[in-house]
Amino acid sequence: MVELTMKDMHETLITPCGMNCRICIGFFGYTMSGKKRKMKCVGCKPSDKSCAFIKKFCKKLTNKEIDYCHKCTDFPCKQLQKLDKRYREKYNMSMIENLEYIKKNGMKKFLQAQEEKYKCLKCQAIICVHNGICYSCDDLNKNK
Ligand code: SF4
Ligand code: SF4
Ligand SMILES: [Zn+2]
Repeated sequence: MVELTMKDMHETLITPCGMNCRICIGFFGYTMSGKKRKMKCVGCKPSDKSCAFIKKFCKKLTNKEIDYCHKCTDFPCKQLQKLDKRYREKYNMSMIENLEYIKKNGMKKFLQAQEEKYKCLKCQAIICVHNGICYSCDDLNKNK
């Protein structure tokens, strides 16, 4: 696994279903309720396990037949739409939009856009999509 600074996004942390593990609360080392996890999640691809998201529901993903959902003939399938709806409503984020952006503009541009979108207003480190917290300076980025 590549060494990441607090400001880096990386392709290996973009999941097949369009989530960016780098901004996930599990990657910062916390549970959804805010408690510290025993171990930080290293991300979907690096850990090669099925997280709570979509991978465990889809044979194409678990069998590694598809690397990103936008390449699937069923895209966006019901399961992905369900997850996407929840994320749009709760966290102002869309997996489907992420994947469409990657398809249209490429991974490099997507990572640059993510760096801008999830940058702490105070210290420029990456903030968490689930609660807006910057775990580098403890700032709550309320406007994001
Ligand atoms: S919990 Fe899931 S989305 Fe979050 S960092 Fe781990 S693998 Fe990625
Ligand atoms: S879009 Fe295709 S690859 Fe992705 S979860 Fe749905 S069925 Fe699986
Ligand atoms: Zn900060």
